[in-house]
Amino acid sequence: MDKPNFELAKKCADYVRLQQKQELKLDIQKLVVAPNIIIDSVQNFASITGQSTDIYMPKLIKGSLKIWDPKNAIHLILYDDTQRSPRRLWGIAHELGHAYLGHEVDGRNQEVEAHSFAAEFLAPEIALRYVQENLIEFTSVDISLLFGLSEEAANKRLNYLLTTYPYHTTTNEFEILRILKPQLDDYIASMKSFYTIPFAASASPQPKFVLNQAALSSTNYGTSFSINK
Ligand SMILES: [Zn+2]
Repeated sequence: MDKPNFELAKKCADYVRLQQKQELKLDIQKLVVAPNIIIDSVQNFASITGQSTDIYMPKLIKGSLKIWDPKNAIHLILYDDTQRSPRRLWGIAHELGHAYLGHEVDGRNQEVEAHSFAAEFLAPEIALRYVQENLIEFTSVDISLLFGLSEEAANKRLNYLLTTYPYHTTTNEFEILRILKPQLDDYIASMKSFYTIPFAASASPQPKFVLNQAALSSTNYGTSFSINK
C-alpha cells in the first residue's frame, strides 16, 4: 500500500518557501506562487463571478478549497475571508501543497502530504530546531509567535520536532536558515532578556541583605544592646 511521501512534501515546501519574501510569518497577500496558481477569497471570487458564497461554504469547513480548471490549466485556491488569520494561512498552505505535489485525488495520503507541506512551508523545521537549540525553554507558544501558526498547528509542529530526528539537511534548508537567521536571532535575544528579568529582580533585595549584615556587625550590636539597657 502506498504511504505518504513526507520527504517529497518537505523538499517541495522548502523549495516554495525559498520563493517567498524573507518574513518569518508569511502574508497571504504577498505569497509568491507558480503562474498557474491563483489565490483569492471566496467572497471576492463569488462577487466577480456573480455567484453566492453559499455554494462554496460546505467545502470550506476546513478553511479553503482548490478548484482545478483544466481548460486553462489553473489551480484556483479559495479561502474564507472571515476566518481567523492562522487558520486561513494554514488552509492556503495546505491547498498549495496539493497543487505543488500534483495531487489528482484527495485521498488520505494526499491529505497527510498536504499537511506535511503546510507545516514545513509555514514553519520550516531547520528554523525551529535552530531556535529550540538556543532557548532554555522552547514551547508551542514560540512556534505560534515566530510563524503565526494556530495553537493547534503549533502543538502538532512541536510534537513533530520532539518525535523525529533530523537525519539530513538539504541545501535549501541551509539557505532557509541563512535567510531567516537574523530574525530568529532577534527572537532568541528577546526571549533571553525576558528570562533574565526574574534574576535581575531577585538580585535587587541583595543590597538590603548586605546592609542587614552590616547592621548586625558587632559594633552595631553593642550599640543596640546599650540602647535596650
Ligand atoms: Zn486537502
